[in-house]
Amino acid sequence: MTKPAILLFPILLFFSSCSEKLSLEDRRDDIATELISDLSADSLYSYVEWLQDMGTRFCLAGNRREVAISLRDKFMSFGYGNARLDSFFLEVTYRDVDYSLWQYNVIAVLEGSVYPDSLSIMGGHYDSILSGSEGDPFSEAPGAHDNASGVAAMLETARVMKDSAFEPEGSVVFIAFGAEELGLYGSLDYCRKASAESAKIKFMLNNDMIAFETASSEYNWWVNIMNYDNSEALLSDAEILASEYTSLNTYNDNELNQYSDSYNFSRYGYPSLFFFKDDPDPDYHSLNDRIENCNFNYCREVTAVSVALLVNRNIYSLR
Ligand SMILES: [Zn+2]
Repeated sequence: MTKPAILLFPILLFFSSCSEKLSLEDRRDDIATELISDLSADSLYSYVEWLQDMGTRFCLAGNRREVAISLRDKFMSFGYGNARLDSFFLEVTYRDVDYSLWQYNVIAVLEGSVYPDSLSIMGGHYDSILSGSEGDPFSEAPGAHDNASGVAAMLETARVMKDSAFEPEGSVVFIAFGAEELGLYGSLDYCRKASAESAKIKFMLNNDMIAFETASSEYNWWVNIMNYDNSEALLSDAEILASEYTSLNTYNDNELNQYSDSYNFSRYGYPSLFFFKDDPDPDYHSLNDRIENCNFNYCREVTAVSVALLVNRNIYSLR
């Protein structure tokens, strides 16, 4: 009986010295690899289908609160008991009619284990619209690519982080923004409130239109990662992580960087990035912006970049 005990001792020593030598980089890599491997193109598809099937997510339509509550309940079904609506009042003129009504951002938080006040945000707008010639967005506006795809990326990230019991050191905040299409109003309201409360926002990752890619080979897939004056370091990290964890080619063309929610974050001094497809989408703001025109394997790759960044910037000590 003594022989196995003698053998066991050096084996135990070997394993304990291995785990002690696990570096910060190894730990980040292990967690990012696990979370990214859990991202599912089928799940992304199911969220986009669910959002499209709501008929319209136009921010002036009568179902707007119902849409927001459905999103809140989706976060809750993943285990985010703190998911909530954050309302704001909107006064806007649309097609010559004045509207004054409540709007809703939907927020869920994966609380940080060391610095819960430090916020890393992943967001995307959930409202949809049609261009003038396309019809009446009050009754139908599928918005599968613009921007059920970005909401799906955020939901899937929230799901895999909760399922894996990932413990970020700072908090990861997921936000589905309302009323983007009429003037980035949801993100504006969030930034105003955050600024008034001196919230410690480390950065914001915006996914808007990330599921349109026509190339069949993943080696020909490209994503535009837009940044702002204050987010050079974040962009550089995103480019490195995209090459490490995905098959994506990246480039940086900031021509359209004012046209989505990340712009408000940059205006308020918070570093932000805007992930955006490469190919021109012929179905933009049309009744044909439907799920069959989306590429969910591509969407999964773009989502992986946000996951890698959220892990990389929220594991900064060996615990
Ligand atoms: Zn959009």
